[in-house]
Amino acid sequence: MKIFTALLGTETNTFSPFVTGFQNFEETYLVRGGNHSETPSAFAIPLIVWRDRAREQGWEVAESLAAFATPAGVTLRHVYESYRDEILADLLAAMPVDAVFLNMHGAMVAEGYDDCEGDLLARVREMVGPDVPVGVELDLHCHLTKLMVDKATAIITFKEYPHIDFAERAEELFSIIAGTLAGKVKPHMALYDCRMVGVFHTSREPMRGYVDDMQKLEGSNGVLSVSLAHCFPWGDVPEMGARTLVITDNRPEYGAQLAQSLGQKLFDLRTQLVPPYLSIDEALDRALAGEKGPVVLADVSDNSGGGAPNDSTFILRRLLERGIANAAIACIWDPVAVSLAIEAGAGAQFEMRIGGKMGPMSGDPVDLLVRVIKVTPEAVQTSGSGANRRTSRLGDAAGIEAHGIEIVINSKRTQTLSPTAFSNLGIDPSEKQILVVKSMQHFYAEFAPIAAEIFYVAAPGAMLPNFDELPYERVDRSLWPLSEGQHTAN
Ligand SMILES: [Zn+2]
Repeated sequence: MKIFTALLGTETNTFSPFVTGFQNFEETYLVRGGNHSETPSAFAIPLIVWRDRAREQGWEVAESLAAFATPAGVTLRHVYESYRDEILADLLAAMPVDAVFLNMHGAMVAEGYDDCEGDLLARVREMVGPDVPVGVELDLHCHLTKLMVDKATAIITFKEYPHIDFAERAEELFSIIAGTLAGKVKPHMALYDCRMVGVFHTSREPMRGYVDDMQKLEGSNGVLSVSLAHCFPWGDVPEMGARTLVITDNRPEYGAQLAQSLGQKLFDLRTQLVPPYLSIDEALDRALAGEKGPVVLADVSDNSGGGAPNDSTFILRRLLERGIANAAIACIWDPVAVSLAIEAGAGAQFEMRIGGKMGPMSGDPVDLLVRVIKVTPEAVQTSGSGANRRTSRLGDAAGIEAHGIEIVINSKRTQTLSPTAFSNLGIDPSEKQILVVKSMQHFYAEFAPIAAEIFYVAAPGAMLPNFDELPYERVDRSLWPLSEGQHTAN
């Protein structure tokens, strides 16, 4: 047997002012021929799982492009087409193949392509023909389109948000495709549109129980896999919205029934699923009222993991205005400030202008007399464990301090995933009363063990989580909560 693997992905925030071009892919993750490092990017983990499993079976593996870009705005047409065509050329060269495994995000939008994943899958299907199994793993923040489901043999999305299950889902997909190749199973996918938009934290009830129940359905009554595509609310495309997907061993009617009942159950839970957002002052008041630290405040609106600039100053400014010290913030994206800190070196003290450079959604820059704590060229943060252990690049970075507030500034736009984003820059996160992290939810897995409390802060910013205020032009406005009361389940 011979399998073919590739990764092409990003999560496109169509409201973001940054375009996504070659540079973003090159700086985030770009590997050819399976040349992954010991600590790969999260999105490379499935490729490594599939390679290992295939080799255990004595199968040959043709490894194509692995390209992932930090979420930002729409991908340039020629950039998407260049990577897509490279994968297709590699596939053509590798043929005949017995199966194709693709890892993609599921919310990639390029100029002229609302559904990059569906486009790539359709071309792959055309090339390999109707009988070669094509397995796909997606981020749960995907637009799970009918085209993708039509063209793939089996699709599995992550189940966990924060995403901690890259490897587990890859293992499951491998089993389904291997079973298909062995003639043991015949996957059939049933898709159901839940008619709603949202952000669903699987770390809390009632979502925790919902995911556990999904998992309990797997492995009996011919159910091979159950996925919930949460959707990506900052992608203004016609098929944006939450959808359930059930893969059965050729039980189309039962699969459709299950997908529908799971989708309706999610809709019934909709108001309970909305994360408990606080204003900046509410969050600071509650953090200061706590006896123990650190209290983690998630600046969800400036999460570069969803395409925001990652340089907003709203919470920093409020900390200064209220005279709150013993706080730390990671990370503010400011390559200019970082280069000044690196030039001056640890221990230097000087006036620095920080953040607020990318437009009104970033707030105004803050001018401070800072002391440089530590500088680290090519800094990283590490998270996860076992097969899910991964490294993400912070770029050149510095820990700086002013008025008792310690701040990590960095040169590569990235969300804060781990306390190592602080500790690698000379800041001890466990000693702070308040830790501000620019992240919507991925911080949770690594920060929950050290946090006395966690609050989600709806500060101003590019990813303000009020969907009914987003300037949608192309999504279906009859989806909840964009229009309450007009729900018609299909
Ligand atoms: Zn995601």
